[in-house]
Amino acid sequence: MSELLLEVNGLKKYFPITGGLFGRKQGEVKAVDDISFYVRKGETLGIVGESGCGKSTTGRLLMRLMEASEGKIIFEDKEITSMSKSELRKTRRDIQMVFQDPYASLNPRHSIEQILEEPLIVHGIGTKAERKKQVREMLEVVGLSSNYAKRYPHQFSGGQRQRIGIAKALMTKPKLIIADEPVSALDVSIQAQVLNLMKDIQKEFQLTYIFIAHDLGVVRHISDRVGVMYLGRLIELAESENLYQSPFHPYTKALLSAVPIPDPDSKKETILIEGEIPSPANPPSGCAFHTRCSQVLDICKTTRPREQELNGHFVACHLFKK
Ligand code: SF4
Repeated sequence: MSELLLEVNGLKKYFPITGGLFGRKQGEVKAVDDISFYVRKGETLGIVGESGCGKSTTGRLLMRLMEASEGKIIFEDKEITSMSKSELRKTRRDIQMVFQDPYASLNPRHSIEQILEEPLIVHGIGTKAERKKQVREMLEVVGLSSNYAKRYPHQFSGGQRQRIGIAKALMTKPKLIIADEPVSALDVSIQAQVLNLMKDIQKEFQLTYIFIAHDLGVVRHISDRVGVMYLGRLIELAESENLYQSPFHPYTKALLSAVPIPDPDSKKETILIEGEIPSPANPPSGCAFHTRCSQVLDICKTTRPREQELNGHFVACHLFKK
């Protein structure tokens, strides 16, 4: 097994719900509720779940763009959660993010050159001439002409803007890229091109990815392992092949049954998930999925299932015991 790059232990993010005349705390939204996982150097970990499951909050916590309520995030043996601001600034050079909406993350008043140069200026990297050279080289790396450096974000298509977003993330030569729904806003035909680009640069720059998506179909071909989140909890995590071929958790099975398969002759029964996703401000007791699970047991209503490991396949469900 290759070395670990990132370890997350017992991570929680609870947002207070305030109200009334004095803005008193009236409850909390458990956006991320005690999750643990690791990421090996050079791998891609996919994190999947419906909107509101806490996957994007997890990404932001890892970058410390928001503070965790509890838990530890260890990157290359250094604990991100307790770092001083200056240590954090240095570490951010090694961890970059690619966002869902490249247009929102690119300043419309800045040229592409200014946008790509900015991370280098922030981290004090290179002379002006070296930075400009690197901008031009990076545009070529992501499949755009270096002549585009003087253009502005609105002059590009959605796919090209996401290439610029990827180039920006690469400028500081990071070790880890957290990509939060990087292809969700793009046309299906463009999605594959951006995914292929991400695969190519992963090899070239020896990158590790955390790839966040709401669709198991999108992460399948890019991920070495995939984790599934539901209502702030990580309910299953396994090598991609294992997860797609033999999912354990009833929620993962239902999600997978809805992923279209290219073979028109292949018959697959879609498992419908009953009901709406409950509010994270008032999650069900016990297993958070028990209100929608077709295999629910009595214990599921009262006791939260703990994560079990069965040959490297993690699952939190009372149906599975070692
Ligand atoms: Fe269903 Fe119970 Fe497993 Fe939750 S723990 S997924 S309710 S069987």
